[in-house]
Amino acid sequence: MKFSQSFIPTTKETPAEATLPSHQFLIQAGFINQEGAGLYNFMPLGKRVLDKIRAIVKEELDRAGCLEVQLGFVTPLELWEESGRATKMGLEMLRIKDRKQNNYVLSPTNEEAMVKLVKNRITSYKDLPINLYQIHTKFRDEARPRFGLLRGREFLMKDGYSFHSSTEDMQREFALMEATYRTIFARLGLEFRVVDADSGAIGGSGSKEFHVLAKSGEDTIVVCDGCDYAANIEAALRGIKQYDKQALEKSKVETPNLTTIEEVSRFLNIEAHQTIKAVIKKAIHETQTHIVIFFVRGNDELEETKACNAVNALELVDATQEEIEAVGLKAGYVGIEGLPVGIVFKIDKELYHETNMVCGANEVNYHLMGIDTPNNETLYADLIAVQEGDGCSCCGGTLSHTKGIEVGHIFQLGTKYSSAMKAEFLDANGKSQPFVMGTYGIGVSRLVAAIIEQHHDEKGCIWSKESAPYDVHIIISNAKKAQELEAGERVYEALNGVGIQTLLDDRAKERFGFKMNDFELIGIPYAIVVGKKLEQGIVEIIERKSLTSIEVSLERVVSTMQEKLG
Ligand code: ATP
Ligand code: MG
Repeated sequence: MKFSQSFIPTTKETPAEATLPSHQFLIQAGFINQEGAGLYNFMPLGKRVLDKIRAIVKEELDRAGCLEVQLGFVTPLELWEESGRATKMGLEMLRIKDRKQNNYVLSPTNEEAMVKLVKNRITSYKDLPINLYQIHTKFRDEARPRFGLLRGREFLMKDGYSFHSSTEDMQREFALMEATYRTIFARLGLEFRVVDADSGAIGGSGSKEFHVLAKSGEDTIVVCDGCDYAANIEAALRGIKQYDKQALEKSKVETPNLTTIEEVSRFLNIEAHQTIKAVIKKAIHETQTHIVIFFVRGNDELEETKACNAVNALELVDATQEEIEAVGLKAGYVGIEGLPVGIVFKIDKELYHETNMVCGANEVNYHLMGIDTPNNETLYADLIAVQEGDGCSCCGGTLSHTKGIEVGHIFQLGTKYSSAMKAEFLDANGKSQPFVMGTYGIGVSRLVAAIIEQHHDEKGCIWSKESAPYDVHIIISNAKKAQELEAGERVYEALNGVGIQTLLDDRAKERFGFKMNDFELIGIPYAIVVGKKLEQGIVEIIERKSLTSIEVSLERVVSTMQEKLG
């Protein structure tokens, strides 16, 4: 493609909210532009990258035996009512009405539609397994669309769904998809981790996420220095911790105006780990909201996703002072014993069978000492955020935190949707059974940004070989000089002739420095500069990543590029 005939509107301007390199550079380099909150257009360069990622995803999935389909983007709300997810999806699912007042949604994911597609069409175990996928637009009305393509509202996802006659076979496919996803992300030149994950609103059990390691990542990943253990903090586990505690006589002590763990433990001269902290939240359910208390050890922090799962809520939000008082709680003095009747609470499972602790007395200015935790297992759940320095539950090694961008998520779904939607097949004994399912997602448009989050410098994008919009970027130093222009065009033709995708910067009105800046900003792996040494038959090859250059003769330029691009 010739730059002069293309549409690559590079700019120095970035929107104020573009704080991340990928967001800034993709806009500055003319890959994307923003149309509204979380809504983006792909311009020619952006579309080429998107299509390249899409092609790699498709090639590897097809190789693994998956079949590509394309479902409608707009789905009837009825489908979501049938599965029971209409309310569960909350405000992220955008509902629309047609002219006849029928209800539809813009698909945020497609489990229901895919189950419906297979139902009554695949009826025998002999036709299983099958893995269907699409690479198609999704819409989620995210509460906080941000970071450009990383968290859009309209975005491109690969979503796949597999159907099986047994759990074992679904697990075999799950392992195959994990291997396939690893190949896809490795081909894209990404450094990534596969981690244990929470299953969220999609449901089911056993899920893994694929995270691109980048300091701007929104997710915290817990990794072990001694073994392969890695988990999203939302699902991370740790080894048992042993604490030394002081003997305390059971008593009520006055703790005037002392409301924090730090103040109370200092005042009583005990370690924070001998106290119990109460975190008060408001739980939002489908039809009601209520106050809920989570009790964790004083030196631990609540993990909100775990807490949300523990009370089966759609969402947890902070409770206001008035809401806390309205249910009879005394903020700063809330404890396990003597709570107002009917209040919902959960205790972290590490506090099960714990003795000799300190917690609020549910009375202003008082705490209780020497209390034991209740002996009722149903009150307990895993609630805490694993901290750096905690021990690994697999090998005893040391856990630490790192940041990741979630680019893929695979789930062992089981029969949740097939049972709800009565999608069944006849097994070998002629008995009707619900399909056992797996589901597998990749954030295709998110990947465009994730690649740049991991691969950029202060000047701009650095695309990996398989994701770059073009392989080579020829810069004609001064395109007003007929000789340079002709030489550049000859190299361009020759490279295209051997299948090397080339962008030719033939703009006559731009100076060399400006064109170099555009090369650095756009980030194509190599530039060939046709300029001052042309009379000696020599051009310069610049590697974008290192910005180092070599000189080669015009005769050798094509073969050198072939070698470099492998
Ligand atoms: P997140 O926790 O980031 O919101 P999710 O768990 O909601 O992601 P899934 O439902 O598993 O995401 O969707 C599959 C994939 O789609 C994700 O792994 C991610 O790469 C991508 N994805 C999800 N939400 C968005 C979004 N708002 N913008 C771009 N890509 C997204
Ligand atoms: Mg989400």
